[in-house]
Amino acid sequence: MEVVTAEVAGMCFGVRDALAALAEIDHPERVTIFGELVHNPIVSDRLARRGFVTTGENDRERLPETDIVLITAHGVSDRERNRLRSAGKTLVDTTCPLVVNAHRAAIALRDRGFHLLVVGRPGHVEVRGIVEDLPSFDVIERVEDVQTYPHYKLGIICQTTARASDVAAIRTAVAERNPSAEIEFVDTVCRPTKEHQRSLENLLTRVDAMVVVGGPNSNNTRELVKLCEERGVRAIRVQSAAELDPEWFQGARLVGLTAGTSTLDETIAEVREALQSINM
Ligand code: SF4
Repeated sequence: MEVVTAEVAGMCFGVRDALAALAEIDHPERVTIFGELVHNPIVSDRLARRGFVTTGENDRERLPETDIVLITAHGVSDRERNRLRSAGKTLVDTTCPLVVNAHRAAIALRDRGFHLLVVGRPGHVEVRGIVEDLPSFDVIERVEDVQTYPHYKLGIICQTTARASDVAAIRTAVAERNPSAEIEFVDTVCRPTKEHQRSLENLLTRVDAMVVVGGPNSNNTRELVKLCEERGVRAIRVQSAAELDPEWFQGARLVGLTAGTSTLDETIAEVREALQSINM
């Protein structure tokens, strides 16, 4: 069985920079990571073993006990940042600059009187960080969710890990269902996400199956799996090489390999090696 790896796969610069910032911290036990640093359980376990205190994604109402709080690459709202600072917390901010761009785009539209439409997953930590600073918004996950909105000015932005084709379809549906609205669109899908998706598309016409390495809560991993399925290619999501079952590859001659933006290089290498050792 032959294995071909997508040209762009795995960790993005935003996650690498966040991990580099954590590596510099000398006293992890004095720092609370505010939510999952990355949606990758392997990385989360390592950080917990180093002694970092962690707050669950859905447990952020409670104030962390440590004086230092680390904001993850997914970012938080200004409201949340102010709440933490007012409680005397020192913030170490690893928000990815491309998430900051999405926040800035939303705020600029808000300040010009637009009702915000955020293309993304409702409840996702990045989306929550964006919408918490908005007085008027809707989050749209699927084209079927698009409505006729009671607002004349509609500003559309995207979760950084949304899929370009979903964004395009939702944008069209918003225009169709709101023909008299003034609509402004800012493309805030990040470049690494687009490159991962494009590299995957380049493989999909050639492979018999695709292995996607990433955590179950990783939005961009989920989008890569969805893209495979929509193109009729069997997608197998695993978190590590240990999860691979050779039986899944019966009859496959060429298997593709890609990974979400929070997957470690070493995990991709281990999965590639394990796949190459399968003789079918
Ligand atoms: S996926 Fe994009 S926005 Fe998110 S951390 Fe990586 S580069 Fe930044």
